[in-house]
Amino acid sequence: MSSVQIRDVRKSFGSFEVLHGVSIPIEDGEFVVLVGPSGCGKSTLLRMLAGLENITSGTISIGDRVVNNVQPKERDIAMVFQNYALYPHMTVADNMGFSLKLRGAKQDEISTGVKRAAEILALTPLLDRYPRQLSGGQRQRVAMGRAIVRDPQVFLFDEPLSNLDAKLRVAMRTEIKELHQRLKTTTVYVTHDQIEAMTMADKIVVMHDGIVEQMGTPLELYDTPANQFVAGFIGSPA
Ligand code: ADP
Ligand code: MG
Repeated sequence: MSSVQIRDVRKSFGSFEVLHGVSIPIEDGEFVVLVGPSGCGKSTLLRMLAGLENITSGTISIGDRVVNNVQPKERDIAMVFQNYALYPHMTVADNMGFSLKLRGAKQDEISTGVKRAAEILALTPLLDRYPRQLSGGQRQRVAMGRAIVRDPQVFLFDEPLSNLDAKLRVAMRTEIKELHQRLKTTTVYVTHDQIEAMTMADKIVVMHDGIVEQMGTPLELYDTPANQFVAGFIGSPA
């Protein structure tokens, strides 16, 4: 695990600036939730943390290393997307081990990593199955397994639960929180669901149109919203 510093980060696509100078300090082991309406720049920021988008200006550091020019593979970050695609022709074990394999790990390191992740996520009995033989919740756990298998310094989640039904979403919320309590990996979790934010976050960052409107604990935002936008967003029903 590691601290993450986002300092005055801007991002333009052509002449269109989507992030207008965003600064977010993230402590070692913290669970930070980015919330905000669709299009406000949450995924873009997460992709920049992962190294999948260039930073137009500003800096991102992980631990004490500025990573602006560091390739995704070299960043020790794992990302779980909304539309996680498992490899259909690979077993659960091979799906989970694939990122280690890509990074040149030896077969016994891969097996050890997969076993450990499978135990944490209660996937051990499913390791030989194929994705089509799994339920939606099990597939989601495999997607998380792929992320934790490397024991990364930072986890990034981009609306990982938005394709699940309401009941499963609540169950997975609890699972992700328990996983965090167990591993204490620094986490940045994106959602547009304020209930998810309020129940999961150590710190919530409310974004709107490419800026940060407010950051604070769930209680701080609830008690003292900085402006009408935050009040409306935090207070509105899911
Ligand atoms: P969010 O995840 O909060 O819904 P995004 O980060 O996906 O928002 O998008 C922020 C803005 O940037 C949107 O206006 C989106 O259309 C734009 N955008 C995202 N990716 C690209 C891209 N590759 N090229 C041009 N515009 C983009
Ligand atoms: Mg998004």
